[in-house]
Amino acid sequence: MTENPPPPSGKKRLFLRSWGCQMNVYDSARMADVLAPLGYAPVDAPEGADMIILNTCHIREKATEKLFSELGRLRQLKQAREAEGGEMVLAVAGCVAQAEGAEITARAPYVDIVLGPQSYHKLPEMVARAARTGRAVVETDFPVEEKFDFLPEVSAPQGITAFLTIQEGCDKFCSFCVVPYTRGAEYSRPVAAVLAEARKLVGQGAREITLLGQNVNAYHGAAEEGGEWGLAQLLRALAEIPGLDRLRYTTSHPRDMDEALIAAHRDIPAVMPFLHLPVQSGSDRVLAAMNRGHTAKEYLALVDRLRAARPDLALSTDIIVGHPGETEADHEATMALIRRVKFAQAFSFKYSPRPGTPAAGAPHRVDEATKDRRLQEVQALLRDQQAEFNASLTGRTVPVLFTGPGRQAGQLSGRTPWLQPVHVPGSLSLIGATAPVFIRAGNPNSLAGELAQQEKTAA
Ligand code: SF4
Repeated sequence: MTENPPPPSGKKRLFLRSWGCQMNVYDSARMADVLAPLGYAPVDAPEGADMIILNTCHIREKATEKLFSELGRLRQLKQAREAEGGEMVLAVAGCVAQAEGAEITARAPYVDIVLGPQSYHKLPEMVARAARTGRAVVETDFPVEEKFDFLPEVSAPQGITAFLTIQEGCDKFCSFCVVPYTRGAEYSRPVAAVLAEARKLVGQGAREITLLGQNVNAYHGAAEEGGEWGLAQLLRALAEIPGLDRLRYTTSHPRDMDEALIAAHRDIPAVMPFLHLPVQSGSDRVLAAMNRGHTAKEYLALVDRLRAARPDLALSTDIIVGHPGETEADHEATMALIRRVKFAQAFSFKYSPRPGTPAAGAPHRVDEATKDRRLQEVQALLRDQQAEFNASLTGRTVPVLFTGPGRQAGQLSGRTPWLQPVHVPGSLSLIGATAPVFIRAGNPNSLAGELAQQEKTAA
């Protein structure tokens, strides 16, 4: 544990720890925004904090047990602070808070606040209520519309690359996933709110925005002129914002990849040629058991249509091995699908049951040793494909958005259109600019390059 520097004078120290997806990171920033008017300023360590918020993720293995062991550690800090005559508000937010609710304060009575992902706008009121009553406050309702209506405008700049939540929740009910239970039904923010937040982010220096949502391409936000916009229409409007050079979105469901969205990849230069499109399995039997609503053949046909629209498109995916009932033939079908698609990047996991989900009670569990072996095979193949994709850029000149200084002096760090980190010798004045970079070496996890002449730009 590190020593905490003092907060800005007169401010209270707020320590936020965020686990899980980018949406949780975004939510943590919004919680800091909502608490700023109460005088809370973020600090980097929990020691001496006036308030600690753990923003939890239910996707983590043994998420609940890990939360309680972390709370046990923080209890000591809280007691030490109280022994000095101070106070520390301890809050648990996020998907584990949503799933466990009052069980958290029953097991850990020193927790002051438990709040689900749709209640962040109520934090100031909850802090006041906990102080007034001296009792724990639990808020795990699902009125997602309210949250976005009542959150303050984004205040802290995010930097050259920014995230913007446009959609929350999910109605797909995949067999293994807790999101429909912890984040609730699918909800899309209105178009005007999204555009206003995007303009603000660009005004604060953002050049690339990644639109976030658990099922982001199901977006159907209300338009001011009436009716609803899909994601493709939203991307077209965002691409018109001066200074916004790059657009991305995550996470998509194959079933919501409609023709308009495929055309957006073809027609809008700001939409980057990189798409995270989870497939989870290459076996139709397992896909059906997962309730994914598509077959392997349909996924492959979709990939073909996307690549026909945008030939330089690179794909990333999620794979789960060892879903209940997965046989050796199913595993082979997954390996075959990976070989066919050739992913540029991927996240792969062993299936582990999430309480309350349909698959958690399903028969025909795959034993751990088999899951381990299958995961190793999947990951070895995906690693080779990622290395191959990175190596394929060697000797090419590609546009790189410079996002900050590199690890070494005189070095810049940036991103290609395909999201690979690139390290380039160059002046810090280039941060925020996009410039052509000649790629000297494509390493498994990053690229090394040097600034090139404008006319050499390839992508
Ligand atoms: S589509 Fe994604 S968020 Fe929705 S249930 Fe399936 S895995 Fe979970």
